[in-house]
Amino acid sequence: MFETGLDKICNITIGVIADEKTCIERICYRDGVDKEKAKKRLESQYDTNFFKVHCKFCITNEEHTDLDKQINEILENKNLSNENVIHLYNGDLEYLQFRKFLEYSKYINHCFTMKSQDFRALNMEKAKEEYKKICDILNLDYKKIYRPKQTHSCNIKTIKSEEPLIFGEGFQDVDGLITKEKNKILSLTYADCIPLYFYDPVKNIIAEVHSGWRGTYQKIGAIAVKKLKDEFGVNTKDLICCMGPSIRDCCFEVKEDVKNMFYEEFKYTGRIDEIIKCKNSKYYIDTILINKIILKEEGLKEDNIIDSGICTKCNSDKLHSYRVEKEFTGRNTGLIALI
Ligand SMILES: [Zn+2]
Repeated sequence: MFETGLDKICNITIGVIADEKTCIERICYRDGVDKEKAKKRLESQYDTNFFKVHCKFCITNEEHTDLDKQINEILENKNLSNENVIHLYNGDLEYLQFRKFLEYSKYINHCFTMKSQDFRALNMEKAKEEYKKICDILNLDYKKIYRPKQTHSCNIKTIKSEEPLIFGEGFQDVDGLITKEKNKILSLTYADCIPLYFYDPVKNIIAEVHSGWRGTYQKIGAIAVKKLKDEFGVNTKDLICCMGPSIRDCCFEVKEDVKNMFYEEFKYTGRIDEIIKCKNSKYYIDTILINKIILKEEGLKEDNIIDSGICTKCNSDKLHSYRVEKEFTGRNTGLIALI
């Protein structure tokens, strides 16, 4: 379809994908050719990433995946894929990837996990098992996870040659990570706060930032960009920022005191009527818009700011949401690594 341009006249396109090993086995079985020939044939076709980038939906068709579930969720509108994000299934696990980052899949690997997994600190052994599961799918080594203890601070740490660490010394009170080293997996956790993923394809450097409402108020996204500029010589025109699922202005209701804080801090933008909305005498804040504004102020191009457009509270059947589950909430994690 894509070769002939027929996809352009289709309302939806669904890619059927599987990992390389499964594809080769199937070609051998179906066409009676050896592995070498099957591999060559596979290499002459579009790869899995092409379908993740170009199809509206993707179905994973491997031995252990539940095809009925995937198809029903597309029909029932529960699949969260949109123009910027693809929602993928693998066995019991579901995760999201940004189409933009998949274009650079030779250099970076990433995902945002969903409710099928929980990365809260409560049970680290369980969280480690979950890291292993998702890293196996992404072909990453889960022993290379770097995870700080997040406290809604503005502290951003650069990972150089340290050993992989979860909550280690030097990783306390850290809400952003930067690295230009390969095979170091950045992992921050979220339940409504905004995940900001950064990638500069020219300098080949990545960052991830936890921007909750406190982080947004303190402009942690802008602090990260400044650090990338000053310490790594990143040209902000090259920098891509993908914004993961978070609570959005549809659901982020705040009390008068928080509304006033945001009013004072962001009235200079001239867009305060868009940032703070009043519905039925309640105030709602658009923290996504604030992040877009401050990233543009730092020099990012509009086209390079990619928003997942997904609200965690509206989609709390698929994503952990603090506002829905309160103190019992699990955590989604955003992973990104240079490979
Ligand atoms: Zn919502």
